Amino acid sequence: MRCPLCHEGAVSPFHRDQRRSYLRCASCALVFVPARYRLCREAERAEYDLHQNAVGESGYEAFLARLAAPLAARLAPGARGLDFGCGPAPALAHMLQRQGFRVSLYDSFYRPDAAALACCYDFICATEVVEHLHRPGSELARLWSLLLPGGWLGVMTKLVRDREAFTRWHYKNDPTHVCFFSRETWRWWAQRQGAHLEFIGADVILLRRQ
Ligand SMILES: [Zn+2]
Repeated sequence: MRCPLCHEGAVSPFHRDQRRSYLRCASCALVFVPARYRLCREAERAEYDLHQNAVGESGYEAFLARLAAPLAARLAPGARGLDFGCGPAPALAHMLQRQGFRVSLYDSFYRPDAAALACCYDFICATEVVEHLHRPGSELARLWSLLLPGGWLGVMTKLVRDREAFTRWHYKNDPTHVCFFSRETWRWWAQRQGAHLEFIGADVILLRRQ
């Protein structure tokens, strides 16, 4: 079995709970579930339909502002971006559009618009997305390839701290969450891309393309 992020084979057991086992990669530190635990498209879609967040809900906007505010502070006026994995109600895109940014939408379930993945952007947002990716290595590489030089990738995902905290972590219990990043994983990925990396708070990661 190989790591879905770095594709190395040095993976070892990390944790096991009532439903799933979790492996950790020695190369990139990604924690992930074996492929047999990934949901099929239909079951995954059903889970997402249960967890819709309506545009304009102030609590959800405050949550998204943790990424939107530091990202917007780094962008030029009118910058063009992509909300990758925007879901059925693209609240983050609306927040950024209100500030004058141009935002395209892509979601493999709700907005499967291939044209959105065929051009270049000043910024790409992926909020609560990377933990769902079945092939994080190739999917992150594809997003990175869509960024213009100097462009920003803004990610929001909860981060693995250590094994002890992981055992009690509610985040791992969502059946659609299949890979779990840590600061170490993002440092590895940023170094591999030659990216400038910033951590904002507990769960926001900003990466700048050189
Ligand atoms: Zn790895």
